[in-house]
Amino acid sequence: MTAKIAINGYGTIGKRVAHAVSLQDDMEVVGVTKTRPTYEARMAIDNGFDLYAVSSEHVQGFKDANIPVQGTLSDLLAKADLVVDCAPGKKGAANLDTYKKAGVKAIFQGGEKHETAGFSFNASANYSEGLGKDLARVVSCNTTGLCRTLYPIYKELGIEWVQATMIRRSADPGDSKKGPINAIEPVLKVPSHHGPDVQTVVPGINIQTLAVKVPTTIMHLHTLVVKLGKPATKEQVLDIWKNEPRICFVNGGEGIKSTAQIMEMSRDLGRDRSDFYETVVWKDGVSVKGDLLYFIQAIHQESDVVPDNIDCIRALLQLETEAKASMSKTNKSMGIDN
Ligand code: NAD
Repeated sequence: MTAKIAINGYGTIGKRVAHAVSLQDDMEVVGVTKTRPTYEARMAIDNGFDLYAVSSEHVQGFKDANIPVQGTLSDLLAKADLVVDCAPGKKGAANLDTYKKAGVKAIFQGGEKHETAGFSFNASANYSEGLGKDLARVVSCNTTGLCRTLYPIYKELGIEWVQATMIRRSADPGDSKKGPINAIEPVLKVPSHHGPDVQTVVPGINIQTLAVKVPTTIMHLHTLVVKLGKPATKEQVLDIWKNEPRICFVNGGEGIKSTAQIMEMSRDLGRDRSDFYETVVWKDGVSVKGDLLYFIQAIHQESDVVPDNIDCIRALLQLETEAKASMSKTNKSMGIDN
């Protein structure tokens, strides 16, 4: 028996999670939802997924466009063990009562507040805390990237504090409505929400963050300074990260000097949609001086949370009790090197 998974919101994250679920042998997609009859709705059907309207008021739009829907979200939830909510940020929380009434477990995304689910998940840091829970939130792309590199350092060497700057892409590549297109926009809520968001997963990490938005669509980049719990060497830090399943090293010396070459590498690797699921650390940008660690990492915002959604499904439904086993299974199915 495979677990029955519904995807509510077949957009940037939802279509990727649906595809990733379809690659697993212990779960299957029972249907996906859309609000409007866009090309993505048609593609969902072409990709073999049953399409549902988010609510009854949206059904006529699909009829007018000759796109067949199997019913509405409530019909879909009746067939599901778990729903992955991929509605636009801040809209998912309104679906909570619907999921509770339908008696399905639910996973929200990082655009929702921690309080919506009361539990924030990152596979590398707290998989076992998710076992059997009814609700979880897979943290945002930036927070996922921060947890992956910081948690193992925190565990092995200790962390006194972290100061980090998030240099954020202004919009996803398919989103032509957002900007800036010719400016650098500081996030004036200082410090930014990213530090507290890491603490929803690992409360013990003392982290302060700032953020700026820049005119690029392909990736985020983080610069970090970490005061370690004890003096260490660069080799020790690299050894710790080498054993982590979702950290990938690149080298400026080998021509990967920017996020553009990371995306080019992903195209060369033949990944689905040219996605890059790992947190990418510049190996030749890592420096340790006594107890201070400096490093720079890049995050593919559209895809790094996708494998963690798969692991979160396994944790909530207790399909696998060990984090490493689940992550390894997910990685293998998605072409991520372990
Ligand atoms: P999106 O706008 O690309 O897709 C959202 C989808 O939800 C659309 O297909 C839309 O039809 C559907 N939808 C609209 N209203 C809905 C509703 N009330 N209920 C259910 N579905 C509805 O958004 P996205 O970028 O995929 O973001 C989804 C979530 O993932 C957000 O919480 C966001 O913060 C988070 N997230 C986004 C990114 C990213 O870079 N795009 C990265 C990590 C996390």
